[in-house]
Amino acid sequence: MIIVMKQNFSEDNLGNVIKTIKDLGLTAHLSRGENTTLIGVVGDKRKILEKNPELFPDVDRIIQVTETYKLANKKFKTEPTVVNVDGVKIGGNNFVIMAGPCAVESREQLLESAIAAKAGGAQILRGGAYKPRTSPYSFQGLEVEGLQFMKEVREETGLKIISEVTSEHALAAAVNYVDIIQIGARNMQNFELLKEAGKTDKPVMLKRGIAATIDEWLNAAEYIMSEGNENVILCERGIRTYETSTRNTLDISAVPVIKNKSHLPIIVDPSHASGVREYVAPLSKAAIAAGADGLMIEVHPCPAKALSDGPQSLNPEAFKTLSNELRPFISLMGKEF
Ligand code: PEP
Ligand code: MN
Repeated sequence: MIIVMKQNFSEDNLGNVIKTIKDLGLTAHLSRGENTTLIGVVGDKRKILEKNPELFPDVDRIIQVTETYKLANKKFKTEPTVVNVDGVKIGGNNFVIMAGPCAVESREQLLESAIAAKAGGAQILRGGAYKPRTSPYSFQGLEVEGLQFMKEVREETGLKIISEVTSEHALAAAVNYVDIIQIGARNMQNFELLKEAGKTDKPVMLKRGIAATIDEWLNAAEYIMSEGNENVILCERGIRTYETSTRNTLDISAVPVIKNKSHLPIIVDPSHASGVREYVAPLSKAAIAAGADGLMIEVHPCPAKALSDGPQSLNPEAFKTLSNELRPFISLMGKEF
């Protein structure tokens, strides 16, 4: 339920509504927008309805939220969320590029990727230290050693770093190294992992599940947020369909749908969505045009030698060319890059 305050409400009356909500054992989420100030109420709403909140001074009206996700809901917070990763802003008018290898393979490979990422204007370096592979016999990642390389390369280049965690055990290690925690498609509904990520103070990028609906995805974000961590970034990475020409099918409409339903920033990953490097550029442009807040792109110093996802990875030169091609599209959308 949402309580909307009148235009020129007094702080005392606002405080009184919030106090009433809290005294009933419910949670109040205050959202001060440019034109409207709202209080989102989470908990058993019957308790507050009994108090007739519409009759409180300076309350304009109440709105019932039918969706099961509340904190991730745009009705709860009308202004877009801007996640501030130590100065790098994700969301709002900002455009961000995360680039780097699928997997951290060695210190040198990661450093070369980071230099390429930086040269192409990426602010964030990606690299998997824990890899969720389809086959147990495929390269599984360097784990803590990979995280250590990421931290070293972060210090050398100044790039922020994002890495995927595949378990609670990996999460416990990763929080000591990364700037952003990534929860991958395969774990989108690993509710215990989501809750643990919600207890950390690191921003979390939540990728859409392979066959997840947008409502399931937003409910997964709600799991993280309901534990107190509201710095959630969504990532559309393609969904499973009957089409076999591409690895997944990029659901480009997810971008405007998310913008309509949520205040959270959304990043598009054209690399995993297509699985084919030739399609990364056109899908990146489509993502920008649809209103995405950023891109995640796989870049490898030598894609032919990559231990994972070589066919969809760009080499440093191709990444540089792509990022230059993208700049006019980003400015056309009124975003800063
Ligand atoms: C990744 O980004 O490394 C990854 C495994 O992606 P996804 O979870 O989207 O498959
Ligand atoms: Mn990959």
